[in-house]
Amino acid sequence: MTSSNHDPRTLAVHAGLEPDPVTGAIAPNIATATNFTFQPKDVAFSANFNPDMTALPYFYSRWTNPTVRQLEQRVAALEGTEDGIATASGMAASAAILFGVLKAGDHIIISDVCYPGVRELVSEVLADLGIQSSAVNLSDLAAARAAMRPNTKLIHAETPCNPLMRLTDIAALAAIAHEGGALLSVDSTVATPVATQPLTLGADLVMHSLTKFMNGHGDVLGGIVVGKKHLIEPIRARIAIRLGASLAAQSAWLILRGIDSLYPRMAMIETNALAVAQGLERHRAVARVIYPGLSSHPQYDLAKRQMKNFSGMMTFQTKAQSDEVANALAGEGGTKLVHYAVSLGHQRSNLVLMRTDELMRSTYFLEGAALDDYRHYAGDGVFRLSIGLEAPEDILADLFAVLDRFV
Ligand SMILES: *Cc1c(COP(=O)(O)O)cnc(C)c1O
Repeated sequence: MTSSNHDPRTLAVHAGLEPDPVTGAIAPNIATATNFTFQPKDVAFSANFNPDMTALPYFYSRWTNPTVRQLEQRVAALEGTEDGIATASGMAASAAILFGVLKAGDHIIISDVCYPGVRELVSEVLADLGIQSSAVNLSDLAAARAAMRPNTKLIHAETPCNPLMRLTDIAALAAIAHEGGALLSVDSTVATPVATQPLTLGADLVMHSLTKFMNGHGDVLGGIVVGKKHLIEPIRARIAIRLGASLAAQSAWLILRGIDSLYPRMAMIETNALAVAQGLERHRAVARVIYPGLSSHPQYDLAKRQMKNFSGMMTFQTKAQSDEVANALAGEGGTKLVHYAVSLGHQRSNLVLMRTDELMRSTYFLEGAALDDYRHYAGDGVFRLSIGLEAPEDILADLFAVLDRFV
């Protein structure tokens, strides 16, 4: 049994875990059961009559499952909070927050640049359901304050944000949200709780795509939302029980296994990423590298203040035409170790070109000063590079073998 006095490194391997009371097994069991026996007096059929849906006895795995529950308790402990609801993917976690908090007529402020799926969920799906939104550069606190309306119920930020690696000051933004009677939710997928605990800085809800650094092995989809119990309970009723986006026990078990090594993995990933970022910054084919751990990051002071670990994500831009470089990296004769692939946060490094024009037309639709600010970070496009656990010299040699052809 853990307590909140334990160090996060201890919580990462112990929280949520108790030896099986029958066999004494220490590793979590995979509870494959979908349903559980109960006494008629203990459980009602609707979430409406079960205010605490995680209370024993378990009822049905779409509501709660013993293996999934261990994962929820572990991530809640790592974020320093009470409760969590695990979901089938990171997108389902973002949907959990949005559908859990907002209703028709409400207004949300969302980071103008964030994970494309989340941005499209707000600007397309929520718009169709009568929920208003403003997309704002949330590194600009004055702009965030100016966007508040009487019906603003939620600010949703992502820091560092994908694909710019631009940061948001969580404590300052939480104050703005709360002054206006809104909640602040933070997508902390890239940071992980090793770097930042947004709830301790004043945020109300934190989500992760567990698919990324938390699981860390590129072999399972998952997501989670954590926060105070009174905020998580209604989200569980809506997203798990009524929308059905619950996580499978097998997936929860793999993610628990992944989180066991979260702290040493993130320490090594940060060391590797810093070495790779510095190496790329010196390469003559590279125009710019943006990594929160480099003193050249436009918000390096905020990065140092808000991140205890700079994580493994960076972008770089090339002097040569980025499509040509992408074709060389991905094609025959391209990189041998660093895969040309989407997603991030795995033990193996990968990279992908994110073209500015394409993202503007598909997802972000920025104009004027907002587009200028995007281009300030991303030019015509960035290679988004996720660093894994390989030796950094090997990662650099693999990239340089291709980049050398462009000097
Ligand atoms: C990947 C990702 C998501 C979506 O997660 P899935 O598990 O792919 O559904 C959401 N936010 C961020 C920041 C991500 O990187």
